[in-house]
Amino acid sequence: MNHPIESAVAVQAIDHWIDGRRVPGTGDRTSDVFDPSTGRVTGRVALATTAEVDHAVRRAAAAFPAWAATPASKRARVMFRLKELMEQHQDALAAAITAEHGKVFTDAKGEVARGLEVVEFACGIPHLLKGDYSEQIGGGIDSWSVRQPLGVCAGITPFNFPVMVPLWMVPVALACGNAFVLKPSERDPTPSLMLADLLRQAGLPDGVLQVVQGDKVAVDALLAHPTVQSVSFVGSTPIAQYIYETGAAHGKRVQALGGAKNHLVVMPDADLDQAVDALVGAAYGSAGERCMAISVAVAVGDVADALVERLAVRAKALRITQGMDLAAEMGPLVTKTHLDKVAGYVDRGVAEGAKLVVDGRGLKVPGHENGFFIGGCLFDDVQPGMTIYRDEIFGPVLAVTRVPDFEAALALVNGHEFGNGTSIFTRDGDSAREFAMRCQIGMVGINVPIPVPMAFHSFGGWKRSLFGDHHMYGPEGVRFFTRLKTITARWPTGIRAGAEFTMPVMK
Ligand code: NAD
Repeated sequence: MNHPIESAVAVQAIDHWIDGRRVPGTGDRTSDVFDPSTGRVTGRVALATTAEVDHAVRRAAAAFPAWAATPASKRARVMFRLKELMEQHQDALAAAITAEHGKVFTDAKGEVARGLEVVEFACGIPHLLKGDYSEQIGGGIDSWSVRQPLGVCAGITPFNFPVMVPLWMVPVALACGNAFVLKPSERDPTPSLMLADLLRQAGLPDGVLQVVQGDKVAVDALLAHPTVQSVSFVGSTPIAQYIYETGAAHGKRVQALGGAKNHLVVMPDADLDQAVDALVGAAYGSAGERCMAISVAVAVGDVADALVERLAVRAKALRITQGMDLAAEMGPLVTKTHLDKVAGYVDRGVAEGAKLVVDGRGLKVPGHENGFFIGGCLFDDVQPGMTIYRDEIFGPVLAVTRVPDFEAALALVNGHEFGNGTSIFTRDGDSAREFAMRCQIGMVGINVPIPVPMAFHSFGGWKRSLFGDHHMYGPEGVRFFTRLKTITARWPTGIRAGAEFTMPVMK
């Protein structure tokens, strides 16, 4: 299959989405969007000014009351229609991801499917918003609790899942009755416009979802805007911390998901074939640009030599080319800047004394010599003090760290500043149970490499992988995007107590 934009010459202007239609930017700043497989600029995305963000928020606030008053079952029907439309347009969405992100088309389809699961979850919103009711809490008095929408919510999303991560937020927020302003990554902004258009076709009233393209200027405008009630963020840890602190200082509810360094522990009794398959897919899939990618293999006891030997064979054999080639297992990185950063980490690992078993630097893909490609890299003997162990590289670089036993493996997992995901491969139930119970990590796999929870659970890490109280989507998402209200009622025909000057208590 040919790349859809390989032959196109024109550089597309990538707009905002305001009040149900595409709107060009009014500011003079733009950012280049690349086809990572060729290195060519394919788009220029508008970077919103503070005034543009203010306009988008005000229009969302104007659309909010009618949407909040729409019965939940009608809001759910919009989600049902969105689900159908996304299924019809799954290939187009996936191709748009590949075009700007670079990940292989088959993986991009998987991303769309995982985002769709959250839409499916949001279809059940009437049930999810059902409150609690207590009859006769006192003589002739009833009490009930409801969850009501917040108002205008904001979302700021990373480049690595331009469809799935916006869908971690948008369907739940909208189904709960909020208006939403999305600020997607400026590196792959087109899929968010496609999602907004599908929501329009699904019947979402104009203004309820706005998309403002932009960078720090737009983000800061959202963080400081008095009308914005909540901020959902997914991205790197330094920015997540900034979003959390700044949003909270402006009185907003914030959930800010950050970076990761996910360890997969291979116990000596593990099924080695299964562990190697898991590591290769989880380390090199999407060129390692996943927050749930495995970047550290913890080899316990005498499993290390055989593990490294097998991993090396597989890393060298990866099929790496442009993402629309259906045989591709790995595509390019997102930008040249990111490629240089990842290659720089490999240099640093060598300089710090780790053993580079497979070197993917300098890879040239025939016909795509200017693409942002790097081959799979494999390090052995990586020590916890090394930069390549501590930092999130966010590229196809797998570090093997050797430890003597289970306790040392667990200490390594718990000693890292990040706590997004982890996994253990073992045949032993005791080890698996101990590991799941004692690891300081938000999402845990047992013989499962990338334990991303389904949409009816919730997604989030611990430690410096998440700032805030709520995980994303699922039941936690419903709680995040709603406020609790409790009503206590007595009718005039009930018992009359006269004026009471003490705290009301049950008599
Ligand atoms: P990033 O932090 O650079 O950018 C994320 C968003 O923040 C973008 O919309 C960007 O425009 C904005 N931003 C960037 N710099 C900013 C600044 N100085 N001030 C205000 N806003 C700013 O992240 P990225 O490179 O797009 O994405 C990769 C990162 O996201 C990785 O660290 C990855 O682990 C993380 N991530 C985490 C999860 C998770 O669930 N924990 C999921 C996906 C990605």
